[in-house]
Amino acid sequence: MTEQSVERLEVSVKTPAGLLTTPVEVPTGFVPVTAIVPLMRRIGEQAQALEERKAIAAGEAISCKKGCAACCRMLVPVSAPEAFALRDMLAKMPAGRRQATVMNVAAARARLEQAGLLARLTEIAETGRQLSDEEMEPINRDYYALRMPCPFLENEVCSIYEDRPAACRELLVTSPAEFCQDMVSNPVRPLPVPVRISTVLGLLWSELSGGPARLIPLPVALEWAERHAPEGAGTWKGASLFENALDKVWRLLNAVTRDK
Ligand code: SF4
Repeated sequence: MTEQSVERLEVSVKTPAGLLTTPVEVPTGFVPVTAIVPLMRRIGEQAQALEERKAIAAGEAISCKKGCAACCRMLVPVSAPEAFALRDMLAKMPAGRRQATVMNVAAARARLEQAGLLARLTEIAETGRQLSDEEMEPINRDYYALRMPCPFLENEVCSIYEDRPAACRELLVTSPAEFCQDMVSNPVRPLPVPVRISTVLGLLWSELSGGPARLIPLPVALEWAERHAPEGAGTWKGASLFENALDKVWRLLNAVTRDK
């Protein structure tokens, strides 16, 4: 495989918690949309790191630690580019690990079917319109009531840590860790998320595909990516994908600033 040439850029974005600057390597040629997923996640993580620093400066502490995976029982939304990236990650796994992961996903699917949630999650993944937070609320609640571990969780540790979705990277709390055992009843204090990268990538995919800015429930993301494989096979100029996504970051951040 020929190595993709890249352009090294320094990104600078004003966020509510300070100026974010980070180097990124943008592919110069035609690439699939998955190529910019790591770049956007990096920007999201840097924005989150600024929020973390601000919270610590205000005397708060981040309670999240390795081995604490209470939040890995919540429904994780992923954008279409991330669903394709997960499918590619699975394809590259060593056979044994891949088989174990496929089995875990199948077990989660069976449990969701038994609980009457699978059809609802599949409908969300395939809907032709963007769902509001209000519409998602009952399904999020019913899913969380199952307390079902994410199919990628092994011994309370994320087995795809480097490739985990943006939404998983964005949830950090400053309330006591034990509060996360019941995130509905307890006063959990999440760190503000200045820009949701799954939303950015969802909006980008909406423009590229002409469909809604959909967010796909993680347990059905792999099967969604398989069903939509022909769409995911498209390629675009890396620089224009990145610029387009970065433009959405700016717009969302501006909307946050205006709302304050
Ligand atoms: S992908 Fe990893 S971090 Fe995200 S919910 Fe699943 S186990 Fe947790």
